[in-house]
Amino acid sequence: MAWGPRPRRRVGVMGGTFDPVHHGHLVAASEALESFALDEVIFVPTGEQPFKTDRDVTLAEHRYLMTVVATASNPRFTVSRLEIDRPGKTYTIDTLRELKAQMPDTDLYFITGADVLPQILTWKDADELWSLAHFIGVTRPGHELDTSGLPEAGVSLLEVPAMAISSTDCRRRVAAGKPVWYLVPDGVVQYIAKYGLYRRGSAKVDDFSRPRPRMTTRARDERSVKLPPRAVGAGK
Ligand code: NAP
Repeated sequence: MAWGPRPRRRVGVMGGTFDPVHHGHLVAASEALESFALDEVIFVPTGEQPFKTDRDVTLAEHRYLMTVVATASNPRFTVSRLEIDRPGKTYTIDTLRELKAQMPDTDLYFITGADVLPQILTWKDADELWSLAHFIGVTRPGHELDTSGLPEAGVSLLEVPAMAISSTDCRRRVAAGKPVWYLVPDGVVQYIAKYGLYRRGSAKVDDFSRPRPRMTTRARDERSVKLPPRAVGAGK
């Protein structure tokens, strides 16, 4: 029997706001798993983001729990609290350093929206990012991407037709009382309805000036808004 060095593990790190997680994200992770021969994909919902100033982001605990619900049925998908539990702003470099320290014999593949890739050069410690992970940019169909300035060997693009679904569109649909069935997993539809997320006037946003609360039963009760099921198109 031949003994050789154990092959290095290959782990995808799916970084995103996931507000909410949708089937496009799940298909993207599954495609990356297959195309890059990954052993597993860890979803890492963001904490406070340095550049996200254009809108209020839903409470991190809700985004984390929706991602847990969405990925529960796939044994090769897990969800990490690394970023939502880290105090202060979320920088990808810190996440990759931490994961590399936890899994030194693993090659990391950071998977995210291709729109995000051109900004990488402006991220904290950008020069070091390439040594910690290979970057996979998930594109929507027909999307042209300018990757000039990015190291060719460090970046790949992956076209995922299901990424025609977008979190922005899902939020708008819920706010307009339209259904999101089949755009997001059933459990996420129900989670959104249960906590009244994305409805106009619902204050389900992160207040980053205060310490991040864990969702206690009481906090959940206080936040929950009883909605008629049709608010998120519960009638399938
Ligand atoms: P975003 O601006 O919310 O999203 C940009 C685009 O990419 C959207 O079209 C989005 O679609 C898509 N997208 C986001 N995550 C995706 C994923 N995992 N797979 C496929 N498509 C995805 O981007 P973001 O969520 O804030 O940031 C993405 C990642 O970059 C996060 O891990 C974040 O921490 C990291 N980041 C790091 C820094 C830094 O270190 N300085 C700065 C910015 C971002 P949907 O809206 O449908 O998801």
